[in-house]
Amino acid sequence: MCIFCKIVNKEIPAKIIYEDENTLAFLDINPRSKGHTLVIPKEHYETFDELPEETAVNLTKTIKKVVNILKSLNPDGYNILNNNKPIAGQEVPHVHFHIIPRYNDEKEAVIKFSEPVNVDLDEVSKELNIE
Ligand code: AMP
Ligand code: ZN
Repeated sequence: MCIFCKIVNKEIPAKIIYEDENTLAFLDINPRSKGHTLVIPKEHYETFDELPEETAVNLTKTIKKVVNILKSLNPDGYNILNNNKPIAGQEVPHVHFHIIPRYNDEKEAVIKFSEPVNVDLDEVSKELNIE
């Protein structure tokens, strides 16, 4: 059983800040800022695309609730982040959204994207059958 399923089953402890029938939100054990929270569906899926539509809707509702709960920490902004598969930085194979409050006095608050690469947008459009 994955580590987040164990948190769902209360087999390992977590600082739970919100819970309902379908979703759970708890503080990240290695917080990148004060209030860094993970939001997960209780049911185990590995990546976002695997979620049934209703689960995705429930998850999104909980993300919004958690953003509101975290307002009591008075952040100046926040990131919402979801990594899918190891190549994208996913370490725990149970779909989760990071909510990372940001504060004006943080030194490295901005999440750095990789450098832009040379991709022909016309070629991509063809592959996607758009335009
Ligand atoms: P990701 O790299 O997107 O898969 O993020 C996984 C996150 O899970 C990391 O930020 C970890 O700090 C966090 N994490 C791992 N184990 C636990 C745990 N037992 N309780 C809370 N957060 C955890
Ligand atoms: Zn799991």
